[in-house]
Amino acid sequence: MKKMIVCDHCRREITFRGDLSVVLVSPTIHPYHDECFSKENKGFSGIFLSDTVINGFGFSFMAIVSFILSITLFITSEQNQKWLALFLLIVPIYRLVSYLLFERHLEK
Ligand SMILES: [Zn+2]
Repeated sequence: MKKMIVCDHCRREITFRGDLSVVLVSPTIHPYHDECFSKENKGFSGIFLSDTVINGFGFSFMAIVSFILSITLFITSEQNQKWLALFLLIVPIYRLVSYLLFERHLEK
């Protein structure tokens, strides 16, 4: 089932994955056109936007590293410290939610 993804800035549909920037506006994530994110980030609302593009290479890399660290910490830490591993899962969870909510509905 295809879901329509609408840009938070201009309210027009985002049609392909290459034009999508999923941005973290704490604590939620919002879809933007690549161009709209650049405009919005320079304008007044840029104060409230983080520079973190969740579907970009940097964040994806961080998600993989965090996931590996989390598993390692969970296996190697003492029983009463295993909950710390959960904090490291926040980054991969954001990446996964971005994929499930927006990216998988768009063509590459
Ligand atoms: Zn837009």
